[in-house]
Amino acid sequence: TQQSIMQQERLRALGQMASGIAHDINNAISPVALYTESLLETEKNLSTKGRNYLEVISRAIDDVAATVARMREFYRQRAPQLTLSPVNVNSLVQQVIDLTRARWSDMPQQRGIVISVQTEFALDLPDIMGVHGEIREALTNLIFNAVDAMPEGGTLTLRTSVVQDLLKSTKEVILKQVCIDVCDTGIGMSDDTRRRCLEPFFTTKGERGTGLGLAMVYGMIERHSAHIEILTEIGKGTTMRMSFLVPTTASSVSHSPAPDIIPTQR
Ligand code: ADP
Repeated sequence: TQQSIMQQERLRALGQMASGIAHDINNAISPVALYTESLLETEKNLSTKGRNYLEVISRAIDDVAATVARMREFYRQRAPQLTLSPVNVNSLVQQVIDLTRARWSDMPQQRGIVISVQTEFALDLPDIMGVHGEIREALTNLIFNAVDAMPEGGTLTLRTSVVQDLLKSTKEVILKQVCIDVCDTGIGMSDDTRRRCLEPFFTTKGERGTGLGLAMVYGMIERHSAHIEILTEIGKGTTMRMSFLVPTTASSVSHSPAPDIIPTQR
């Protein structure tokens, strides 16, 4: 349609701008990253306070670097065939929690609010097939959105679970889905926001928003043939659930062909 062509055009123009900005930011943060790391590693007489500050700076730099990588990745034409590898979702979630700590712990505390983080990890979670970096970026975006939705503080819950895919399972082949839930106790979404939030450039955050976070999440979801569900209630909070089909292994299915897990191309 006319509208989607225009969106493509805007994306392309923005892509060029974004990669220019990404380049400049990278150059600017390189020395900061270098000297912070070098102080943390070599300076033996740092005070606890000094060390804590440097660690916060170091995590903030990681965030900036991740954002820059996202800016680059989001617009770059993806390689036609994604290389999928086994991903342990529990450890990926834990990794993202550590990487995003500055955003849900340190920054809110500076503003005098508290965001507590809970994890509920399913035991015996099977690996999924995916692109580790893409899923990590998507999860980071969901966590940032959850934090933004809790300006007065609240609870962020990260939960993993495994369920049987009732639609795709047959008598012979039981297919499973691994779910990652990101739940917040924040402001929730109106019906209109819920409907439109995955669209590129849709934001309710004014100047502070780009409207690209969830569009990026959705791109990852599509490339992984995964699903995203949004449960939300105004004033109560939001749960974003990503679910990934688990490939069946030869031992669990002896005579059936493996399910088609090649991600759809856009
Ligand atoms: P941005 O964060 O830059 O606005 P996103 O694409 O990440 O862009 O999100 C689009 C919109 O979806 C947000 O502006 C917000 O209105 C809504 N949204 C996303 N996540 C949440 C959430 N956890 N709670 C409430 N609203 C949300």
